[in-house]
Amino acid sequence: MKALVTGGAGFLGSHLCDLLLAKGYEVFCVDNLITGSVRNIEHIKTDKFTYMKHDVTKPLYVEDNIDFIFHLASPASPIDYLELPIQTLKVGALGTYNMLGLAKEKKARFLLASTSEVYGDPLVNPQTEEYWGNVNPIGPRGVYDEAKRYAEAITMAYHRYHGINTRIVRIFNTYGPRMRLNDGRVVPNFIGQALRGENLTVYGDGSQTRSFCYVSDEVDGIYRLMMSDYSLPVNIGNPEEHTILEFANIIIKMMGSGSKIVFKELPVDDPKQRRPDISKARKLLGWEPKVGLEGGLRETIGYFREIL
Ligand code: NAD
Ligand code: UDP
Repeated sequence: MKALVTGGAGFLGSHLCDLLLAKGYEVFCVDNLITGSVRNIEHIKTDKFTYMKHDVTKPLYVEDNIDFIFHLASPASPIDYLELPIQTLKVGALGTYNMLGLAKEKKARFLLASTSEVYGDPLVNPQTEEYWGNVNPIGPRGVYDEAKRYAEAITMAYHRYHGINTRIVRIFNTYGPRMRLNDGRVVPNFIGQALRGENLTVYGDGSQTRSFCYVSDEVDGIYRLMMSDYSLPVNIGNPEEHTILEFANIIIKMMGSGSKIVFKELPVDDPKQRRPDISKARKLLGWEPKVGLEGGLRETIGYFREIL
Protein backbone atom coordinates (compact mmCIF):
# COMPACT_ATOMS: atom_id res chain seq x y z
CA MET A 1 0.00 0.00 0.00
CA LYS A 2 1.23 3.49 -0.84
CA ALA A 3 0.49 6.57 1.21
CA LEU A 4 1.25 10.21 0.46
CA VAL A 5 1.63 12.63 3.37
CA THR A 6 1.58 16.38 2.66
CA GLY A 7 3.32 18.37 5.38
CA GLY A 8 5.29 15.17 6.05
CA ALA A 9 8.41 17.06 7.18
CA GLY A 10 6.46 18.90 9.87
CA PHE A 11 5.86 17.96 13.49
CA LEU A 12 2.74 15.79 13.11
CA GLY A 13 3.43 14.73 9.52
CA SER A 14 6.84 13.26 10.36
CA HIS A 15 5.37 11.19 13.21
CA LEU A 16 2.64 10.01 10.84
CA CYS A 17 5.30 8.99 8.26
CA ASP A 18 7.04 6.96 11.03
CA LEU A 19 3.76 5.23 11.91
CA LEU A 20 2.94 4.39 8.28
CA LEU A 21 6.43 3.02 7.63
CA ALA A 22 6.19 0.89 10.79
CA LYS A 23 2.92 -0.51 9.43
CA GLY A 24 4.64 -1.46 6.16
CA TYR A 25 3.41 1.32 3.85
CA GLU A 26 5.48 2.86 1.11
CA VAL A 27 5.45 6.57 1.98
CA PHE A 28 5.72 9.68 -0.20
CA CYS A 29 6.38 12.76 1.88
CA VAL A 30 5.53 16.07 0.19
CA ASP A 31 6.62 19.30 1.85
CA ASN A 32 7.92 22.73 0.83
CA LEU A 33 9.61 23.20 4.26
CA ILE A 34 7.88 26.55 4.88
CA THR A 35 7.49 25.63 8.57
CA GLY A 36 8.88 22.07 8.54
CA SER A 37 12.43 20.75 8.36
CA VAL A 38 14.28 17.81 6.80
CA ARG A 39 15.72 17.25 10.30
CA ASN A 40 12.33 15.72 11.18
CA ILE A 41 12.74 12.98 8.56
CA GLU A 42 16.51 12.51 8.34
CA HIS A 43 16.36 9.51 10.72
CA ILE A 44 14.29 7.60 8.13
CA LYS A 45 16.60 5.26 6.25
CA THR A 46 14.55 3.02 3.98
CA ASP A 47 13.92 2.89 0.27
CA LYS A 48 10.18 2.71 1.07
CA PHE A 49 10.35 6.44 1.84
CA THR A 50 10.52 9.22 -0.76
CA TYR A 51 10.74 12.91 0.05
CA MET A 52 9.47 15.35 -2.58
CA LYS A 53 10.07 19.07 -2.11
CA HIS A 54 6.92 20.61 -3.50
CA ASP A 55 4.46 23.38 -2.73
CA VAL A 56 1.00 21.75 -2.81
CA THR A 57 -0.67 25.03 -3.81
CA LYS A 58 0.77 24.03 -7.22
CA PRO A 59 -0.55 20.87 -8.91
CA LEU A 60 1.38 17.70 -8.10
CA TYR A 61 1.92 14.89 -10.58
CA VAL A 62 2.92 11.49 -9.21
CA GLU A 63 3.64 8.47 -11.41
CA ASP A 64 3.04 5.78 -8.78
CA ASN A 65 -0.34 4.56 -7.67
CA ILE A 66 -1.40 6.15 -4.42
CA ASP A 67 -3.87 4.46 -2.06
CA PHE A 68 -4.08 7.03 0.73
CA ILE A 69 -3.49 10.79 0.89
CA PHE A 70 -3.05 12.38 4.31
CA HIS A 71 -3.25 16.14 3.71
CA LEU A 72 -1.51 17.85 6.64
CA ALA A 73 0.31 20.68 4.85
CA SER A 74 -0.43 24.04 6.49
CA PRO A 75 1.25 26.45 8.86
CA ALA A 76 -0.21 25.48 12.22
CA SER A 77 1.09 27.64 15.03
CA PRO A 78 -0.51 31.05 15.58
CA ILE A 79 2.75 32.95 15.03
CA ASP A 80 3.39 31.01 11.80
CA TYR A 81 0.00 31.70 10.29
CA LEU A 82 0.06 35.33 11.40
CA GLU A 83 3.40 35.72 9.57
CA LEU A 84 2.20 33.67 6.57
CA PRO A 85 -1.43 34.73 6.10
CA ILE A 86 -1.61 34.36 2.31
CA GLN A 87 0.30 31.04 2.22
CA THR A 88 -2.03 29.74 4.95
CA LEU A 89 -5.14 30.68 2.98
CA LYS A 90 -3.63 29.28 -0.23
CA VAL A 91 -2.64 25.92 1.22
CA GLY A 92 -6.07 25.47 2.84
CA ALA A 93 -7.86 26.38 -0.39
CA LEU A 94 -5.63 25.61 -3.43
CA GLY A 95 -3.58 22.97 -1.63
CA THR A 96 -6.67 21.05 -0.55
CA TYR A 97 -8.21 21.46 -4.03
CA ASN A 98 -5.04 20.07 -5.67
CA MET A 99 -4.76 17.13 -3.27
CA LEU A 100 -8.45 16.27 -3.75
CA GLY A 101 -7.78 16.35 -7.50
CA LEU A 102 -4.88 13.95 -6.99
CA ALA A 103 -7.11 11.67 -4.86
CA LYS A 104 -9.72 11.66 -7.64
CA GLU A 105 -7.11 10.87 -10.31
CA LYS A 106 -5.53 8.06 -8.23
CA LYS A 107 -8.82 6.79 -6.76
CA ALA A 108 -7.14 7.26 -3.39
CA ARG A 109 -8.77 7.72 -0.01
CA PHE A 110 -8.24 11.29 1.26
CA LEU A 111 -7.90 12.60 4.82
CA LEU A 112 -7.96 16.31 5.66
CA ALA A 113 -6.14 17.50 8.78
CA SER A 114 -8.62 20.04 10.08
CA THR A 115 -8.53 21.69 13.47
CA SER A 116 -10.39 22.61 16.63
CA GLU A 117 -9.97 26.20 15.34
CA VAL A 118 -13.01 25.60 13.11
CA TYR A 119 -14.96 26.07 16.37
CA GLY A 120 -13.31 29.50 16.79
CA ASP A 121 -13.92 30.94 20.25
CA PRO A 122 -16.49 28.29 21.13
CA LEU A 123 -19.66 29.13 23.04
CA VAL A 124 -20.16 25.50 24.08
CA ASN A 125 -17.76 23.33 26.05
CA PRO A 126 -16.77 20.58 25.38
CA GLN A 127 -17.02 20.91 21.58
CA THR A 128 -18.93 18.21 19.72
CA GLU A 129 -18.60 17.77 15.96
CA GLU A 130 -22.16 19.07 15.56
CA TYR A 131 -21.22 22.53 16.88
CA TRP A 132 -20.84 25.01 13.97
CA GLY A 133 -18.42 27.32 15.71
CA ASN A 134 -17.93 30.98 16.51
CA VAL A 135 -15.27 32.29 14.13
CA ASN A 136 -14.32 35.88 13.35
CA PRO A 137 -13.65 35.68 9.59
CA ILE A 138 -11.77 38.98 9.38
CA GLY A 139 -9.69 38.77 12.57
CA PRO A 140 -5.99 37.82 12.41
CA ARG A 141 -6.75 34.14 13.14
CA GLY A 142 -9.40 34.11 10.38
CA VAL A 143 -6.73 33.23 7.79
CA TYR A 144 -6.25 29.84 9.43
CA ASP A 145 -9.77 29.17 10.72
CA GLU A 146 -11.50 30.06 7.46
CA ALA A 147 -8.91 28.24 5.33
CA LYS A 148 -9.64 25.09 7.32
CA ARG A 149 -13.40 25.64 7.17
CA TYR A 150 -13.15 26.06 3.39
CA ALA A 151 -10.96 22.92 3.25
CA GLU A 152 -13.68 20.98 5.10
CA ALA A 153 -16.34 22.34 2.72
CA ILE A 154 -14.45 21.38 -0.46
CA THR A 155 -13.62 17.96 1.01
CA MET A 156 -17.33 17.31 1.61
CA ALA A 157 -18.14 18.62 -1.89
CA TYR A 158 -15.67 16.18 -3.49
CA HIS A 159 -17.15 13.43 -1.35
CA ARG A 160 -20.76 14.24 -2.24
CA TYR A 161 -20.31 15.29 -5.87
CA HIS A 162 -17.42 13.08 -7.07
CA GLY A 163 -17.91 10.20 -4.62
CA ILE A 164 -14.33 10.51 -3.31
CA ASN A 165 -13.70 8.52 -0.16
CA THR A 166 -12.84 11.27 2.32
CA ARG A 167 -12.12 11.73 6.04
CA ILE A 168 -11.91 14.89 8.16
CA VAL A 169 -10.03 14.90 11.44
CA ARG A 170 -10.42 17.88 13.76
CA ILE A 171 -7.12 17.92 15.62
CA PHE A 172 -7.00 19.53 19.06
CA ASN A 173 -3.76 20.95 20.58
CA THR A 174 -1.10 18.28 20.11
CA TYR A 175 2.45 18.35 21.46
CA GLY A 176 5.58 16.25 21.56
CA PRO A 177 9.14 15.88 20.24
CA ARG A 178 9.96 17.64 16.91
CA MET A 179 7.89 20.73 17.66
CA ARG A 180 10.02 23.77 16.87
CA LEU A 181 11.34 25.37 20.03
CA ASN A 182 10.50 28.80 18.61
CA ASP A 183 7.15 28.03 16.94
CA GLY A 184 5.40 30.17 19.55
CA ARG A 185 2.95 27.53 20.75
CA VAL A 186 2.50 27.28 24.45
CA VAL A 187 4.23 23.92 25.02
CA PRO A 188 7.60 24.78 23.38
CA ASN A 189 7.40 28.35 24.71
CA PHE A 190 6.97 27.34 28.36
CA ILE A 191 9.49 24.46 28.25
CA GLY A 192 12.05 26.63 26.40
CA GLN A 193 11.59 29.47 28.89
CA ALA A 194 11.97 27.12 31.87
CA LEU A 195 15.10 25.52 30.35
CA ARG A 196 16.68 28.94 29.78
CA GLY A 197 15.76 30.09 33.30
CA GLU A 198 13.45 32.80 31.89
CA ASN A 199 10.01 33.78 33.16
CA LEU A 200 7.04 31.90 31.69
CA THR A 201 4.85 34.21 29.59
CA VAL A 202 1.16 33.62 30.31
CA TYR A 203 -1.07 35.57 27.91
CA GLY A 204 -4.08 37.33 29.43
CA ASP A 205 -4.91 36.21 32.97
CA GLY A 206 -4.29 32.56 32.08
CA SER A 207 -7.92 31.55 32.68
CA GLN A 208 -8.35 30.37 29.06
CA THR A 209 -8.31 26.58 28.77
CA ARG A 210 -6.69 24.05 26.42
CA SER A 211 -6.57 20.23 26.33
CA PHE A 212 -3.24 18.71 25.32
CA CYS A 213 -2.87 15.48 23.35
CA TYR A 214 0.42 13.62 23.04
CA VAL A 215 1.60 13.10 19.47
CA SER A 216 1.61 9.27 19.47
CA ASP A 217 -2.07 9.27 20.51
CA GLU A 218 -2.93 11.86 17.86
CA VAL A 219 -1.35 10.00 14.92
CA ASP A 220 -2.91 6.73 16.11
CA GLY A 221 -6.32 8.42 16.02
CA ILE A 222 -5.65 9.91 12.57
CA TYR A 223 -4.66 6.51 11.21
CA ARG A 224 -7.71 4.80 12.70
CA LEU A 225 -9.99 7.43 11.18
CA MET A 226 -8.42 6.93 7.75
CA MET A 227 -9.08 3.17 8.07
CA SER A 228 -12.71 3.70 9.17
CA ASP A 229 -15.65 4.19 6.83
CA TYR A 230 -16.84 7.47 8.39
CA SER A 231 -16.85 10.60 6.20
CA LEU A 232 -18.04 13.31 8.59
CA PRO A 233 -15.61 15.18 10.87
CA VAL A 234 -14.22 13.46 13.98
CA ASN A 235 -12.52 15.22 16.92
CA ILE A 236 -9.20 13.69 17.93
CA GLY A 237 -7.72 15.22 21.08
CA ASN A 238 -7.27 14.68 24.78
CA PRO A 239 -10.29 15.78 26.84
CA GLU A 240 -8.26 16.63 29.96
CA GLU A 241 -8.72 20.40 30.21
CA HIS A 242 -6.40 22.86 32.02
CA THR A 243 -6.27 26.60 32.33
CA ILE A 244 -3.07 28.03 30.86
CA LEU A 245 -2.10 29.31 34.31
CA GLU A 246 -2.43 25.79 35.74
CA PHE A 247 -0.43 24.50 32.81
CA ALA A 248 2.41 26.98 33.47
CA ASN A 249 2.55 25.81 37.08
CA ILE A 250 2.61 22.14 36.00
CA ILE A 251 5.66 22.86 33.79
CA ILE A 252 7.45 24.79 36.54
CA LYS A 253 6.82 21.99 39.04
CA MET A 254 7.76 19.13 36.71
CA MET A 255 10.98 20.82 35.64
CA GLY A 256 11.94 21.87 39.17
CA SER A 257 12.37 25.34 37.69
CA GLY A 258 12.92 28.59 39.58
CA SER A 259 11.16 30.55 36.80
CA LYS A 260 8.33 32.90 37.69
CA ILE A 261 5.15 33.61 35.75
CA VAL A 262 4.71 36.95 33.97
CA PHE A 263 1.47 38.05 32.32
CA LYS A 264 1.43 39.42 28.75
CA GLU A 265 -1.27 40.76 26.50
CA LEU A 266 -3.83 38.20 25.28
CA PRO A 267 -3.68 37.74 21.47
CA VAL A 268 -6.77 38.93 19.53
CA ASP A 269 -9.59 36.33 19.34
CA ASP A 270 -7.68 33.84 21.53
CA PRO A 271 -10.28 31.13 22.28
CA LYS A 272 -11.38 31.15 25.94
CA GLN A 273 -12.07 27.46 26.20
CA ARG A 274 -11.21 24.37 24.24
CA ARG A 275 -11.88 20.75 25.03
CA PRO A 276 -12.89 17.97 22.63
CA ASP A 277 -15.93 15.78 23.08
CA ILE A 278 -14.43 12.48 21.90
CA SER A 279 -17.54 10.30 22.15
CA LYS A 280 -17.53 9.81 18.38
CA ALA A 281 -13.86 8.74 18.24
CA ARG A 282 -14.45 6.35 21.14
CA LYS A 283 -17.51 4.80 19.52
CA LEU A 284 -16.49 4.74 15.85
CA LEU A 285 -12.74 4.16 16.13
CA GLY A 286 -12.34 2.52 19.53
CA TRP A 287 -9.87 5.35 20.15
CA GLU A 288 -8.99 7.28 23.25
CA PRO A 289 -5.73 8.84 24.40
CA LYS A 290 -3.37 6.58 26.33
CA VAL A 291 -0.57 8.98 27.29
CA GLY A 292 -1.18 11.20 30.30
CA LEU A 293 0.02 14.80 30.51
CA GLU A 294 2.93 14.02 32.80
CA GLY A 295 4.28 11.14 30.70
CA GLY A 296 3.93 13.12 27.47
CA LEU A 297 5.56 16.21 28.95
CA ARG A 298 8.47 14.14 30.29
CA GLU A 299 9.24 12.91 26.73
CA THR A 300 8.84 16.41 25.31
CA ILE A 301 11.03 18.08 27.95
CA GLY A 302 13.71 15.41 27.31
CA TYR A 303 13.63 16.24 23.60
CA PHE A 304 13.94 20.00 24.12
CA ARG A 305 16.74 19.50 26.66
CA GLU A 306 18.67 17.59 24.04
CA ILE A 307 18.25 20.14 21.23
CA LEU A 308 18.80 23.30 23.30
P1 NAD B 1 4.02 21.99 11.20
O1 NAD B 1 4.18 23.43 10.85
O2 NAD B 1 5.11 21.34 11.97
O3 NAD B 1 3.78 21.13 9.89
C1 NAD B 1 3.14 21.61 8.74
C2 NAD B 1 3.97 21.17 7.54
O4 NAD B 1 3.30 21.59 6.33
C3 NAD B 1 5.36 21.82 7.52
O5 NAD B 1 6.34 20.84 7.34
C4 NAD B 1 5.29 22.78 6.33
O6 NAD B 1 6.54 23.00 5.73
C5 NAD B 1 4.28 22.09 5.43
N1 NAD B 1 3.62 22.98 4.48
C6 NAD B 1 2.97 24.14 4.73
N2 NAD B 1 2.50 24.68 3.58
C7 NAD B 1 2.87 23.85 2.58
C8 NAD B 1 2.69 23.86 1.17
N3 NAD B 1 2.04 24.87 0.55
N4 NAD B 1 3.17 22.83 0.45
C9 NAD B 1 3.83 21.81 1.05
N5 NAD B 1 4.04 21.74 2.37
C10 NAD B 1 3.58 22.76 3.13
O7 NAD B 1 2.63 21.87 11.98
P2 NAD B 1 1.92 20.60 12.64
O8 NAD B 1 1.63 20.95 14.05
O9 NAD B 1 2.66 19.37 12.34
O10 NAD B 1 0.52 20.59 11.87
C11 NAD B 1 0.23 19.66 10.85
C12 NAD B 1 -1.23 19.77 10.44
O11 NAD B 1 -2.07 19.48 11.55
C13 NAD B 1 -1.64 21.16 9.94
O12 NAD B 1 -2.56 21.01 8.89
C14 NAD B 1 -2.35 21.76 11.13
O13 NAD B 1 -3.30 22.71 10.74
C15 NAD B 1 -3.00 20.53 11.78
N6 NAD B 1 -3.22 20.75 13.20
C16 NAD B 1 -2.19 20.65 14.13
C17 NAD B 1 -2.45 20.87 15.47
C18 NAD B 1 -1.36 20.75 16.51
O14 NAD B 1 -1.64 20.98 17.69
N7 NAD B 1 -0.14 20.37 16.20
C19 NAD B 1 -3.73 21.21 15.89
C20 NAD B 1 -4.74 21.33 14.94
C21 NAD B 1 -4.48 21.07 13.60
N1 UDP C 1 -0.05 31.07 25.42
C1 UDP C 1 0.51 31.67 26.54
N2 UDP C 1 1.85 31.91 26.55
C2 UDP C 1 2.68 31.57 25.51
C3 UDP C 1 2.10 30.96 24.38
C4 UDP C 1 0.73 30.73 24.35
O1 UDP C 1 -0.19 31.98 27.51
O2 UDP C 1 3.88 31.82 25.61
C5 UDP C 1 -1.49 30.79 25.42
C6 UDP C 1 -2.24 31.29 24.19
O3 UDP C 1 -2.65 32.63 24.37
C7 UDP C 1 -3.41 30.32 24.15
C8 UDP C 1 -2.82 29.02 24.68
O4 UDP C 1 -1.64 29.38 25.39
O5 UDP C 1 -4.43 30.74 25.02
C9 UDP C 1 -2.46 28.01 23.60
O6 UDP C 1 -1.70 28.69 22.64
P1 UDP C 1 -1.03 27.97 21.39
O7 UDP C 1 -0.32 29.03 20.62
O8 UDP C 1 -0.22 26.82 21.84
O9 UDP C 1 -2.22 27.36 20.53
P2 UDP C 1 -3.75 27.75 20.26
O10 UDP C 1 -4.52 26.79 21.07
O11 UDP C 1 -4.02 29.16 20.68
O12 UDP C 1 -3.89 27.56 18.80
